[in-house]
Amino acid sequence: MLTARTKSGTIFSLGTEYKKETLLIVRNSEEFFCPVCGEAVSLKLGNQRIYHFAHRSGTVCRDFHEGETLYHIEGKLQIYQWLNRQQIPAELEYYDPIIGQRPDIVFLYDGNKYALEYQCSPITEEIFIKRTQGYYQQNYIPLWIIGRKHIKAKRSNVFSLSAFDYFFIRKTNDRHLILPSYCPEEKQFNILSSIYPYSIKNAIANCTVHPIQNTEIKDILEPKVINQFSFFKWSKEMEKNTINWSLHPSPDRNRFLREIYNHNLNLYLLPSEIGLPVRHSLLIQTPAIIWQTYLYLDVLLDKSPNDLINLKDVERNYNQRIKNKEIAIRNAPQLANENSFHAVSQYFLQLEKLGLLMKKSETVYQLQNKIFIPKSSREKEERRNEFYQKNKSILVKL
Ligand SMILES: [Zn+2]
Repeated sequence: MLTARTKSGTIFSLGTEYKKETLLIVRNSEEFFCPVCGEAVSLKLGNQRIYHFAHRSGTVCRDFHEGETLYHIEGKLQIYQWLNRQQIPAELEYYDPIIGQRPDIVFLYDGNKYALEYQCSPITEEIFIKRTQGYYQQNYIPLWIIGRKHIKAKRSNVFSLSAFDYFFIRKTNDRHLILPSYCPEEKQFNILSSIYPYSIKNAIANCTVHPIQNTEIKDILEPKVINQFSFFKWSKEMEKNTINWSLHPSPDRNRFLREIYNHNLNLYLLPSEIGLPVRHSLLIQTPAIIWQTYLYLDVLLDKSPNDLINLKDVERNYNQRIKNKEIAIRNAPQLANENSFHAVSQYFLQLEKLGLLMKKSETVYQLQNKIFIPKSSREKEERRNEFYQKNKSILVKL
């Protein structure tokens, strides 16, 4: 930690850049205590990268556990000093007694009070939600930033994101979903945007780099998101993934496979219209190819051209699938007000653009063309190329 209480009760903060000689003198003449548990703490001035306070071994503190790494302390300090340079009023490790929480940094910006949590160690979803709600309750806007090392890049524009990583997704004012991270070693923020998961763990996403010395707070809170999306990459990754998981059965997958075989469908011969990337699909944890197949079976399969489809029925079927645990919602505590059905509505809009449906009213669509189900791999291949050529301009704009 970077702050401690002195004998006289004032807070001593290492957010100010002191010289080591000054701190050596202070250390010899002052005693320091943890502001949370009151136990004595030591001022560490070793040859480590950063000066900090640490509990003595054997002390159990409910707030600052010994797991606070230098990576975390360093990142917190860099972000704090970055806010200072922008003349943004900020306080390090501010303790709010009403909610009993201590965000890494509290700062005031644009008329709002923010609670910044730079999180480098995993915490449970329960704690994440509790803290987030605490901040809302005291009119803070939570700003969770994850330690960059948690975000695993697999290939260019392909990321492996854990359930924990998804906790950090936040919504910008223009309704983009972004995942901010920070690395104190590289001294830069990374922002993932246009996140389209094609499986539970993997997603296509865009990553932008923001070196801290030429980045402002608004670039992190409201980054300009350019929706660059490669449909080709998406379908390639999704296909690879589908083949992969069909070889590694699990009860969920078997249930899904059984259901599609009962409808004379074949996993390898699903049409291009099933498994489309759609805006906000990250709200659904179940892979797009599965939830869209369920929608197809529930509301599209038995319809003929000119038949009407009511989104209210779609939603009822969708909720039933959730209840049956065939579709799972993703846990994103900062998006608690978002309804995952939004992704389904987006899918219907996409099918309209592709000419399969026509929107008749806010909740009613009319089927224009039935989705064609390929009978062989060759046919699937041909159809897919045709589909891609014909709809290229639609598929890259999400
Ligand atoms: Zn303590």
